[in-house]
Amino acid sequence: MDAREALRRYLEQRRELGESELVLDSLSVEEALRLIGAAGKGRRTHRGDDVSITSADWRTALREAGAVPEQPKAPAKTGRTARALDDVADEANEAVHVPTTESAPDAQSTESPLDGVPAGIIIGGASRALSDDPAFKLDTLEEIATVVAGCTRCPLYATAKNPVPGAGNPDADFMIVGEAPGQNEDEQGVPFVGQAGQLLIKIIGAIGLTRDDVFIANVLKHRPPGNRNPLPEEVTACSPYLVRQIELIRPKVILALGTFAAQTLLDTKLTIGKLRGQVHRYYGVPLVVTYHPAALLRNSAWKRPTWEDVQLARRILDRAVAPGA
Ligand code: URA
Repeated sequence: MDAREALRRYLEQRRELGESELVLDSLSVEEALRLIGAAGKGRRTHRGDDVSITSADWRTALREAGAVPEQPKAPAKTGRTARALDDVADEANEAVHVPTTESAPDAQSTESPLDGVPAGIIIGGASRALSDDPAFKLDTLEEIATVVAGCTRCPLYATAKNPVPGAGNPDADFMIVGEAPGQNEDEQGVPFVGQAGQLLIKIIGAIGLTRDDVFIANVLKHRPPGNRNPLPEEVTACSPYLVRQIELIRPKVILALGTFAAQTLLDTKLTIGKLRGQVHRYYGVPLVVTYHPAALLRNSAWKRPTWEDVQLARRILDRAVAPGA
Protein backbone atom coordinates (compact mmCIF):
# COMPACT_ATOMS: atom_id res chain seq x y z
CA MET A 1 0.00 0.00 0.00
CA ASP A 2 1.46 3.40 -0.88
CA ALA A 3 1.59 6.32 1.53
CA ARG A 4 -1.37 8.10 -0.04
CA GLU A 5 -3.63 5.04 0.27
CA ALA A 6 -2.44 4.40 3.84
CA LEU A 7 -3.19 8.01 4.73
CA ARG A 8 -6.58 7.91 3.01
CA ARG A 9 -7.57 4.91 5.13
CA TYR A 10 -6.27 6.57 8.24
CA LEU A 11 -8.20 9.76 7.51
CA GLU A 12 -11.37 7.77 6.90
CA GLN A 13 -11.00 6.19 10.32
CA ARG A 14 -10.47 9.65 11.78
CA ARG A 15 -13.55 10.95 10.04
CA GLU A 16 -15.62 8.08 11.45
CA LEU A 17 -14.49 9.23 14.87
CA GLY A 18 -15.65 12.76 13.98
CA GLU A 19 -12.17 14.31 14.10
CA SER A 20 -10.36 16.89 12.00
CA GLU A 21 -6.80 17.10 13.27
CA LEU A 22 -3.99 14.64 12.83
CA VAL A 23 -2.13 12.88 15.57
CA LEU A 24 1.14 14.09 14.06
CA ASP A 25 1.35 17.07 16.36
CA SER A 26 -0.47 20.11 15.07
CA LEU A 27 -0.96 18.91 11.53
CA SER A 28 -4.47 19.27 10.18
CA VAL A 29 -6.15 16.73 7.96
CA GLU A 30 -6.23 19.32 5.15
CA GLU A 31 -2.55 20.06 5.51
CA ALA A 32 -1.70 16.38 5.46
CA LEU A 33 -3.75 15.87 2.32
CA ARG A 34 -2.03 18.81 0.68
CA LEU A 35 1.38 17.47 1.59
CA ILE A 36 0.62 13.99 0.37
CA GLY A 37 -0.96 15.41 -2.77
CA ALA A 38 2.10 17.52 -3.38
CA ALA A 39 4.26 14.54 -2.59
CA GLY A 40 2.67 12.47 -5.26
CA LYS A 41 3.43 15.01 -7.95
CA GLY A 42 6.76 16.15 -6.56
CA ARG A 43 6.92 19.32 -4.53
CA ARG A 44 9.02 22.46 -4.88
CA THR A 45 10.91 23.34 -1.73
CA HIS A 46 11.70 26.88 -0.71
CA ARG A 47 15.08 26.33 -2.38
CA GLY A 48 13.33 25.40 -5.60
CA ASP A 49 14.35 21.70 -5.46
CA ASP A 50 11.93 18.95 -6.30
CA VAL A 51 11.06 16.69 -3.39
CA SER A 52 10.07 13.19 -4.27
CA ILE A 53 8.49 10.95 -1.70
CA THR A 54 9.89 7.48 -1.64
CA SER A 55 8.36 5.92 1.42
CA ALA A 56 5.30 3.71 1.45
CA ASP A 57 4.64 4.64 5.07
CA TRP A 58 2.44 7.69 5.37
CA ARG A 59 4.07 9.01 8.53
CA THR A 60 7.50 8.88 6.90
CA ALA A 61 6.01 10.31 3.72
CA LEU A 62 4.58 13.25 5.64
CA ARG A 63 7.90 13.84 7.32
CA GLU A 64 9.72 13.68 3.98
CA ALA A 65 7.20 16.18 2.69
CA GLY A 66 8.15 18.52 5.51
CA ALA A 67 5.23 17.97 7.86
CA VAL A 68 7.21 17.41 11.05
CA PRO A 69 10.87 17.00 11.91
CA GLU A 70 12.46 13.60 11.44
CA GLN A 71 12.07 11.55 14.60
CA PRO A 72 14.94 9.49 15.92
CA LYS A 73 14.33 5.79 15.59
CA ALA A 74 12.82 4.17 18.62
CA PRO A 75 15.51 2.56 20.70
CA ALA A 76 15.34 -1.22 20.59
CA LYS A 77 14.10 -2.78 23.77
CA THR A 78 16.92 -4.75 25.20
CA GLY A 79 17.31 -6.83 28.28
CA ARG A 80 13.58 -7.31 28.59
CA THR A 81 14.00 -9.58 31.53
CA ALA A 82 11.64 -9.09 34.39
CA ARG A 83 12.49 -6.07 36.48
CA ALA A 84 10.45 -5.28 39.56
CA LEU A 85 7.85 -2.63 38.83
CA ASP A 86 9.03 -0.92 41.97
CA ASP A 87 12.44 -0.45 40.32
CA VAL A 88 10.80 1.07 37.27
CA ALA A 89 8.73 3.24 39.56
CA ASP A 90 11.76 4.37 41.49
CA GLU A 91 13.44 5.45 38.27
CA ALA A 92 10.45 7.29 36.94
CA ASN A 93 9.25 8.80 40.17
CA GLU A 94 12.69 9.69 41.36
CA ALA A 95 12.54 12.24 44.14
CA VAL A 96 8.86 12.87 43.60
CA HIS A 97 6.46 13.12 46.46
CA VAL A 98 3.77 10.45 46.12
CA PRO A 99 0.40 12.05 46.85
CA THR A 100 -2.57 10.19 48.24
CA THR A 101 -4.80 8.82 45.53
CA GLU A 102 -7.68 11.14 46.32
CA SER A 103 -5.58 14.29 46.31
CA ALA A 104 -3.59 13.34 43.24
CA PRO A 105 -5.85 14.74 40.53
CA ASP A 106 -4.95 18.21 41.75
CA ALA A 107 -1.24 17.40 41.69
CA GLN A 108 1.13 19.71 39.87
CA SER A 109 2.40 18.66 36.48
CA THR A 110 6.05 18.15 37.42
CA GLU A 111 5.52 14.44 36.86
CA SER A 112 3.82 14.52 33.49
CA PRO A 113 5.83 13.42 30.48
CA LEU A 114 3.98 15.99 28.39
CA ASP A 115 3.94 19.75 28.86
CA GLY A 116 0.53 21.09 29.64
CA VAL A 117 -0.94 17.74 30.65
CA PRO A 118 -1.40 17.45 34.39
CA ALA A 119 0.03 14.56 36.34
CA GLY A 120 -2.48 12.36 38.08
CA ILE A 121 -2.44 9.51 40.51
CA ILE A 122 0.81 7.73 41.22
CA ILE A 123 0.56 4.06 42.08
CA GLY A 124 3.62 2.10 43.05
CA GLY A 125 6.14 2.06 45.81
CA ALA A 126 7.62 -0.07 48.49
CA SER A 127 4.32 -0.39 50.35
CA ARG A 128 2.77 -2.55 47.66
CA ALA A 129 4.03 -6.02 48.53
CA LEU A 130 2.47 -7.84 45.61
CA SER A 131 5.75 -9.54 44.89
CA ASP A 132 4.88 -12.11 47.57
CA ASP A 133 2.20 -13.45 45.27
CA PRO A 134 3.18 -16.64 43.35
CA ALA A 135 2.26 -14.83 40.10
CA PHE A 136 5.48 -12.86 40.53
CA LYS A 137 7.51 -16.04 40.12
CA LEU A 138 6.19 -16.47 36.58
CA ASP A 139 8.89 -15.47 34.13
CA THR A 140 7.06 -15.23 30.83
CA LEU A 141 3.66 -14.27 29.46
CA GLU A 142 3.24 -17.88 28.31
CA GLU A 143 3.76 -19.11 31.87
CA ILE A 144 1.14 -16.64 33.06
CA ALA A 145 -1.28 -17.93 30.41
CA THR A 146 -0.65 -21.51 31.47
CA VAL A 147 -1.21 -20.74 35.14
CA VAL A 148 -4.32 -18.67 34.36
CA ALA A 149 -5.68 -21.63 32.40
CA GLY A 150 -5.52 -23.78 35.53
CA CYS A 151 -6.37 -21.03 37.99
CA THR A 152 -8.95 -21.71 40.70
CA ARG A 153 -8.24 -18.63 42.84
CA CYS A 154 -11.83 -17.48 42.38
CA PRO A 155 -14.94 -19.38 41.22
CA LEU A 156 -15.08 -17.79 37.76
CA TYR A 157 -13.06 -20.60 36.17
CA ALA A 158 -15.99 -22.94 36.81
CA THR A 159 -18.48 -20.99 34.70
CA ALA A 160 -16.13 -19.68 32.01
CA LYS A 161 -15.60 -21.60 28.77
CA ASN A 162 -12.04 -20.42 28.24
CA PRO A 163 -9.43 -18.39 30.07
CA VAL A 164 -8.61 -15.05 28.45
CA PRO A 165 -5.13 -14.27 29.74
CA GLY A 166 -4.36 -11.48 27.25
CA ALA A 167 -2.93 -11.33 23.76
CA GLY A 168 -0.66 -9.32 21.54
CA ASN A 169 2.92 -8.28 21.19
CA PRO A 170 4.98 -9.37 24.21
CA ASP A 171 7.36 -6.49 23.47
CA ALA A 172 4.59 -3.94 23.11
CA ASP A 173 5.28 -0.35 24.05
CA PHE A 174 1.52 0.24 24.20
CA MET A 175 -0.59 -1.83 26.55
CA ILE A 176 -4.36 -1.75 26.82
CA VAL A 177 -6.24 -2.88 29.90
CA GLY A 178 -9.94 -3.70 29.84
CA GLU A 179 -12.33 -5.01 32.43
CA ALA A 180 -13.14 -8.68 31.88
CA PRO A 181 -13.90 -11.03 28.99
CA GLY A 182 -17.40 -10.95 27.57
CA GLN A 183 -19.23 -13.73 25.75
CA ASN A 184 -17.21 -13.59 22.50
CA GLU A 185 -13.93 -13.38 24.36
CA ASP A 186 -14.97 -16.31 26.56
CA GLU A 187 -15.76 -18.38 23.48
CA GLN A 188 -12.50 -17.56 21.69
CA GLY A 189 -10.10 -17.12 24.60
CA VAL A 190 -8.95 -13.79 23.12
CA PRO A 191 -9.61 -10.32 24.55
CA PHE A 192 -11.69 -7.70 22.73
CA VAL A 193 -12.94 -9.73 19.79
CA GLY A 194 -16.62 -8.73 20.04
CA GLN A 195 -18.28 -5.52 18.92
CA ALA A 196 -16.48 -3.39 21.51
CA GLY A 197 -13.24 -5.04 20.45
CA GLN A 198 -13.80 -4.16 16.82
CA LEU A 199 -14.31 -0.54 17.82
CA LEU A 200 -11.20 -0.66 19.97
CA ILE A 201 -9.14 -1.90 17.02
CA LYS A 202 -10.52 0.96 14.90
CA ILE A 203 -9.63 3.45 17.60
CA ILE A 204 -6.05 2.28 17.93
CA GLY A 205 -5.87 2.05 14.12
CA ALA A 206 -6.53 5.77 14.07
CA ILE A 207 -3.33 6.34 16.04
CA GLY A 208 -1.38 4.06 13.75
CA LEU A 209 -1.45 0.88 15.84
CA THR A 210 -2.73 -2.60 15.11
CA ARG A 211 -3.62 -5.49 17.38
CA ASP A 212 -0.14 -6.89 16.67
CA ASP A 213 1.56 -3.73 17.92
CA VAL A 214 -0.08 -3.70 21.33
CA PHE A 215 -0.71 -6.06 24.21
CA ILE A 216 -4.31 -6.28 25.39
CA ALA A 217 -5.25 -7.68 28.76
CA ASN A 218 -8.13 -7.49 31.17
CA VAL A 219 -8.24 -7.11 34.92
CA LEU A 220 -10.12 -10.41 35.13
CA LYS A 221 -8.96 -13.38 33.09
CA HIS A 222 -12.23 -15.33 33.22
CA ARG A 223 -15.68 -14.12 32.23
CA PRO A 224 -18.06 -13.12 35.03
CA PRO A 225 -21.34 -14.93 34.31
CA GLY A 226 -23.86 -12.82 32.43
CA ASN A 227 -21.23 -10.06 32.09
CA ARG A 228 -21.90 -8.90 35.63
CA ASN A 229 -19.42 -6.53 37.24
CA PRO A 230 -16.34 -8.15 38.73
CA LEU A 231 -16.49 -8.67 42.48
CA PRO A 232 -13.78 -7.21 44.73
CA GLU A 233 -12.57 -10.67 45.77
CA GLU A 234 -12.26 -11.68 42.09
CA VAL A 235 -10.15 -8.60 41.42
CA THR A 236 -7.96 -9.28 44.42
CA ALA A 237 -7.46 -12.88 43.29
CA CYS A 238 -6.78 -12.06 39.63
CA SER A 239 -4.96 -8.74 39.61
CA PRO A 240 -1.48 -10.14 40.40
CA TYR A 241 -1.52 -11.70 36.90
CA LEU A 242 -2.13 -8.30 35.34
CA VAL A 243 0.50 -6.62 37.46
CA ARG A 244 2.99 -9.31 36.48
CA GLN A 245 2.04 -8.92 32.81
CA ILE A 246 2.75 -5.20 33.02
CA GLU A 247 6.01 -5.93 34.79
CA LEU A 248 7.14 -8.37 32.08
CA ILE A 249 6.00 -6.26 29.14
CA ARG A 250 7.18 -2.95 30.57
CA PRO A 251 5.14 -0.85 28.16
CA LYS A 252 5.87 2.82 27.59
CA VAL A 253 2.22 3.68 28.11
CA ILE A 254 -0.90 1.97 29.43
CA LEU A 255 -4.39 2.83 28.20
CA ALA A 256 -6.99 1.89 30.81
CA LEU A 257 -10.43 1.36 29.28
CA GLY A 258 -13.42 2.24 31.36
CA THR A 259 -14.23 2.90 34.98
CA PHE A 260 -13.44 -0.56 36.21
CA ALA A 261 -9.93 -0.91 34.76
CA ALA A 262 -9.07 2.67 35.69
CA GLN A 263 -10.37 2.47 39.24
CA THR A 264 -8.74 -0.91 39.80
CA LEU A 265 -5.32 0.08 38.51
CA LEU A 266 -5.36 3.49 40.15
CA ASP A 267 -6.93 2.24 43.37
CA THR A 268 -9.50 5.00 43.42
CA LYS A 269 -13.24 5.58 43.26
CA LEU A 270 -12.88 8.71 41.14
CA THR A 271 -14.98 8.76 37.98
CA ILE A 272 -13.64 8.53 34.44
CA GLY A 273 -14.58 12.18 33.99
CA LYS A 274 -12.14 13.08 36.78
CA LEU A 275 -9.45 10.59 35.80
CA ARG A 276 -9.12 11.34 32.11
CA GLY A 277 -7.01 14.16 30.74
CA GLN A 278 -4.14 13.40 33.11
CA VAL A 279 -1.05 11.26 32.98
CA HIS A 280 -1.16 8.88 35.91
CA ARG A 281 1.69 6.56 36.83
CA TYR A 282 1.34 2.87 37.41
CA TYR A 283 4.59 1.64 38.87
CA GLY A 284 6.35 4.26 36.80
CA VAL A 285 4.49 3.53 33.57
CA PRO A 286 2.44 6.49 32.29
CA LEU A 287 -1.22 5.54 32.34
CA VAL A 288 -4.01 7.27 30.44
CA VAL A 289 -7.66 6.64 31.21
CA THR A 290 -10.43 6.66 28.65
CA TYR A 291 -13.97 5.43 28.10
CA HIS A 292 -14.58 1.76 27.47
CA PRO A 293 -15.42 1.09 23.80
CA ALA A 294 -18.63 -0.63 24.93
CA ALA A 295 -19.64 2.69 26.49
CA LEU A 296 -18.89 4.46 23.20
CA LEU A 297 -21.25 2.08 21.43
CA ARG A 298 -23.97 3.32 23.78
CA ASN A 299 -23.05 6.99 23.85
CA SER A 300 -21.32 8.52 20.84
CA ALA A 301 -20.79 11.81 22.71
CA TRP A 302 -17.83 10.10 24.37
CA LYS A 303 -16.05 9.55 21.06
CA ARG A 304 -14.41 12.97 21.03
CA PRO A 305 -12.97 12.74 24.56
CA THR A 306 -11.86 9.19 23.76
CA TRP A 307 -10.09 10.46 20.70
CA GLU A 308 -8.32 13.09 22.79
CA ASP A 309 -7.29 10.42 25.28
CA VAL A 310 -5.84 8.04 22.72
CA GLN A 311 -4.03 10.93 21.08
CA LEU A 312 -2.54 11.75 24.46
CA ALA A 313 -1.45 8.12 24.87
CA ARG A 314 0.07 8.19 21.39
CA ARG A 315 1.98 11.39 22.18
CA ILE A 316 3.36 9.80 25.35
CA LEU A 317 4.44 6.79 23.30
CA ASP A 318 6.08 8.97 20.65
CA ARG A 319 7.83 10.99 23.30
CA ALA A 320 9.01 7.85 25.08
CA VAL A 321 10.50 6.23 22.00
CA ALA A 322 11.95 9.49 20.67
CA PRO A 323 12.87 11.42 23.84
CA GLY A 324 14.59 14.26 21.97
CA ALA A 325 11.57 15.02 19.80
N1 URA B 1 -14.70 -5.85 27.41
C1 URA B 1 -13.58 -5.93 28.16
O1 URA B 1 -13.39 -5.16 29.10
N2 URA B 1 -12.68 -6.85 27.82
C2 URA B 1 -12.84 -7.68 26.79
O2 URA B 1 -11.95 -8.48 26.54
C3 URA B 1 -14.01 -7.56 26.04
C4 URA B 1 -14.93 -6.64 26.36
